Amino acid sequence: SAPARDRLRIAIQKSGRLADPARSLLAACGLSWRQSRDKLFCFGESLPVDLLLVRDDDIPGLIADGVCDLGVVGLNELDEQAKARRQQGLPDAYQPLRGLGFGQCRLMIAVPEDWDWQGVAQLSGKRIATSYPAILAAWLRDKGVDAQVVELSGSVEIAPKLGTADLICDLVSSGATLAANQLKPVETLLDSEAVLAGPVHELDDARAGLMAMLLRRLDGLSRVQDRKLLMFSAAEERVDALARLLPDAEPLLRLPGNGTSVRLQTMCNGALSWQRLEELERAGAQGLMVLAVEKSLA
Ligand code: ATP
Ligand code: MG
Repeated sequence: SAPARDRLRIAIQKSGRLADPARSLLAACGLSWRQSRDKLFCFGESLPVDLLLVRDDDIPGLIADGVCDLGVVGLNELDEQAKARRQQGLPDAYQPLRGLGFGQCRLMIAVPEDWDWQGVAQLSGKRIATSYPAILAAWLRDKGVDAQVVELSGSVEIAPKLGTADLICDLVSSGATLAANQLKPVETLLDSEAVLAGPVHELDDARAGLMAMLLRRLDGLSRVQDRKLLMFSAAEERVDALARLLPDAEPLLRLPGNGTSVRLQTMCNGALSWQRLEELERAGAQGLMVLAVEKSLA
């Protein structure tokens, strides 16, 4: 078995869409690093948790090989490589542990704008360009459609124009890239976001505790993300009506008041827009204050 290790190693994207959000999220979990000169390896200072900065394609393999313990990678990339392993008869070597709430996109089938889309049966016999051959092949098999998968490593969206494929299967977020290439999205294969990926087997040395701590902090962050502490005062006879305007909040907590009005406080899970605050004010809330929750351990 592998030698015991007492430092946790996390692979994140060196540059690209996931690089900055991944770093910020880990920093919000209390990690900090001393930047090394070549910037491929960042030595953890506040905790024994180091970063390896790599291309996102390499992250699943680094976990599979045990070079890294965790990675921040798009579910699309993780799923593609997991399916490719399965198709080669290899055992599962990583799994998504937590969704991280950024890097949202969809893996979609997109066809030329002038196609009259009627359903997946239309893909039969067509050539589909993609960087996600394993996910696409599995999806086509599942749909019972016989089409040709054309694997391209980049610039997938221009393949129909170049004549190397009839349509594509690619990541879509705003849809602007598709539109610029006269393509329209018609089917979703995968809803993706950045995930924290980890091994399928639990670690059995000091890294296990570090991993558990990191996961607990991540959960603490996601728990507080949309939660806000709402404070206000109101006349006693307005309290019930105000509570009805806050169905997404915990029961109103009464704080010691100054006689004429009640001081109220609640934890709200939904968005508190200006418009909503103005509505509460019209219903009798005074001195409204919204406070962000920064940390929480539950
Ligand atoms: P690398 O050099 O690390 O290989 P890359 O070019 O493969 O970078 P990026 O374009 O930075 O990767 O995208 C990384 C991840 O961001 C994708 O795998 C996906 O999970 C996510 N993502 C979110 N929106 C989009 C989008 N519109 N297009 C592509 N990826 C997106
Ligand atoms: Mg890549």
